[in-house]
Amino acid sequence: MDKKLAIVTGASRGIGRAIAEKLVTDGFFVVGTATSDSGAEAISAYLGENGKGYKLNVADAADIENFIKTTGDAHGTPAVLVNNAGITRDNLLMRMKDEEWDDIISTNLTSVFRMSKAVLRGMMKVRYGRIINISSVVGSTGNAGQTNYAAAKAGMVGFAKSMAKEVGSRGITVNTVAPGFIDTDMTKELSDDIKNALLGSIALGRLGRPEEIAHAVSFLASEHASYITGETLHVNGGMYMP
Ligand code: NAD
Repeated sequence: MDKKLAIVTGASRGIGRAIAEKLVTDGFFVVGTATSDSGAEAISAYLGENGKGYKLNVADAADIENFIKTTGDAHGTPAVLVNNAGITRDNLLMRMKDEEWDDIISTNLTSVFRMSKAVLRGMMKVRYGRIINISSVVGSTGNAGQTNYAAAKAGMVGFAKSMAKEVGSRGITVNTVAPGFIDTDMTKELSDDIKNALLGSIALGRLGRPEEIAHAVSFLASEHASYITGETLHVNGGMYMP
């Protein structure tokens, strides 16, 4: 039997890579995306025969259209889509430029709308699909200097709940994973002062590991999560307890 297909955006490193590797061990054929050709090749190399890397800019509508067409022709309809790609452009609101706002909204939120819409027709035909969006604790708590990022990450939650209501009758679930502070390139740049302050707010007293997010995604992608939709799974070591 053919393996089920899972698409993971931003799979070149960090959380996306951990998710891609975990879904391979779960038995999926994984299509992982990177922003460059070399990144796509690196994904193909680490996935081996269990997947393939593709170049994709999730902030570009035409690129998404081509990607869905190309991967659809090559691998068929995805059973799972993980919208993981994301960026930060931090600045205080008083200083935030339109580009900093627009970049975050298009890369972190509009991409989720476009990617989810693009896979929907195929999923509706087979009456099965799992869409999992990687949000952030910041979408719930807010964070000074991240009005753009927090707005996008909170927007993903409302998007998932609304989409879940639209597509549930077709066997498609839509859920959100909201990581706390995870040890990746995104958080490596934080100063020691900020890191220490953060650690004080985390019940488990440490940053999370990318694999700990991947396990949550793996669960939501599995049959064990068949009756869960529109839900947000907070994986933050007790930093925020809704
Ligand atoms: P990272 O910077 O290591 O990885 C981000 C990935 O997104 C990279 O693979 C990058 O190539 C990809 N990407 C960026 N812009 C893209 C674009 N325009 N098109 C396609 N891909 C693009 O960050 P990470 O920490 O692994 O973060 C992964 C996700 O988890 C992001 O959505 C991030 O907001 C979220 N998150 C991270 C943390 C954390 O503490 N690290 C916390 C909460 C949420």
